[in-house]
Amino acid sequence: MRNRPFRRPSLSAKPPAMRYVSTRGEAAPRDFESVLLAGLAEDGGLFLPETWPILLPEDWRALRGRPYPEIAAEIIGRFTGDTFEPGVLLSMCRDAYAGFTTPAVAPLVQLDERRFALELFHGPTLAFKDFALQLLGRMFDHVLARRGERITIVGATSGDTGSAAIEACRDRQNLDIVILHPEGRTSAVQRRQMTTVLSPNVRNLAVRGDFDNCQDLVKAMFNDAPFRAEMNLSAVNSINWARIAAQIPYYVYAALSLGAPEREVAFAVPTGNFGNVFAGWAARRMGLPVSSLIIGSNRNDILARWITANDMSAQPVVPSLSPSMDIQVSSNFERLLFELLGRDGAQTAATMRAFRETGTMPIPEEAWRNAAALFRGQAVSDEETIAEMRRLYAQGYAADPHTAAGTAASHAHAPDAPGTPIVIAATAHPAKFPDAVEQATGTRPALPPHMADLYEREERFSVLPNDLSAVQSAVRAHARRNAD
Ligand SMILES: *Cc1c(COP(=O)(O)O)cnc(C)c1O
Repeated sequence: MRNRPFRRPSLSAKPPAMRYVSTRGEAAPRDFESVLLAGLAEDGGLFLPETWPILLPEDWRALRGRPYPEIAAEIIGRFTGDTFEPGVLLSMCRDAYAGFTTPAVAPLVQLDERRFALELFHGPTLAFKDFALQLLGRMFDHVLARRGERITIVGATSGDTGSAAIEACRDRQNLDIVILHPEGRTSAVQRRQMTTVLSPNVRNLAVRGDFDNCQDLVKAMFNDAPFRAEMNLSAVNSINWARIAAQIPYYVYAALSLGAPEREVAFAVPTGNFGNVFAGWAARRMGLPVSSLIIGSNRNDILARWITANDMSAQPVVPSLSPSMDIQVSSNFERLLFELLGRDGAQTAATMRAFRETGTMPIPEEAWRNAAALFRGQAVSDEETIAEMRRLYAQGYAADPHTAAGTAASHAHAPDAPGTPIVIAATAHPAKFPDAVEQATGTRPALPPHMADLYEREERFSVLPNDLSAVQSAVRAHARRNAD
């Protein structure tokens, strides 16, 4: 008997059990709730579903034309097992995406005969991370309320991720958030997106130091076991499985809009930590007809080198016009590696260890060939990024530098079949990177109306020395105040 999940009478039927395994094979399987709260597995691996849910063509068709939050709830619900009572996930999805400024949530904008920008930047912080984090904040809150627990989220940011995490956590009942940023080293837009959030459960700390100092302070807090337990420390970092799950629906939404399941669709994705493009891989694994996944990198091109020549060797990170992709070690890549190695946890662990020790990841030829049949990769230099932004602008489309790396890659690796549309993940609003846009087009992009007064809003943050005990006192004071 085939199951018919979309017509499932949710009040009576129990959702199927869904368990998660670690990519390093040593951790006991867990359910979604525990994966959400834990983030990383105790063997150092990343969680993946024990078996992938598969949708049939009629299941995909049943989703076509539905509003984005409904598609999101149907897809994410395949991964959440019995963590949420019936109806709860749908109302969380509706709530999470109600704050987006377009009713379509993820509108598709046609760029040329076969290319479409999937605009993922209409959320509160103008970048695609809002898709996952807006939902994650609500998931955390719901689960913590049921457990009667309270957590303190701490994180370090060089700019982008901090604001997305703060917007996700603001005004949530059962969590506090403290974000460290290097004083004077983020752009004014980035800082103000964090420091003008005046919610009582949000605290910004400007550390006298650089981003690495901030990250070291956060690591030191997590490594301080008594402090970690006292504060119930947690993170919303990009390796959390729930973030990937929450990014799958927009691949589904875009492909269905362009004719799936009857027509194949290619995606081009500007990539750093490999989270976004892995969500595209997962959509394909669930049965969505995705013909290829084109990775756009900047000069930090480890992934592009790997796909073209099986050369996965880390090099020093160099700054570029697309800072969210200035990464050499893509933490979510381990998930693909585990799949390419036939879900062999021991081999995955050994490969990751070799990478850490030598800086080069030894990936067997056959596994690489399998990946290279689906993935394409292109390193796009700053000059090419500017040229692509200029070209798009002349055609009437203002793209941010990350998105332009994606469109440039899509030109280098367009699928042979001319009827296959290419969807480019537009990951940030152009106004988030005004200097690069101005350099390319001569025009400074305006902030969208709901943020136009960002420069007039009141800011709140404390400046602290690069000192663990000073930072710990600030975190403790913040968490205590709100717990009472
Ligand atoms: C985070 C980010 C990326 C990279 O996404 P990954 O999931 O890390 O690959 C690309 N573009 C923008 C604008 C981002 O903020």
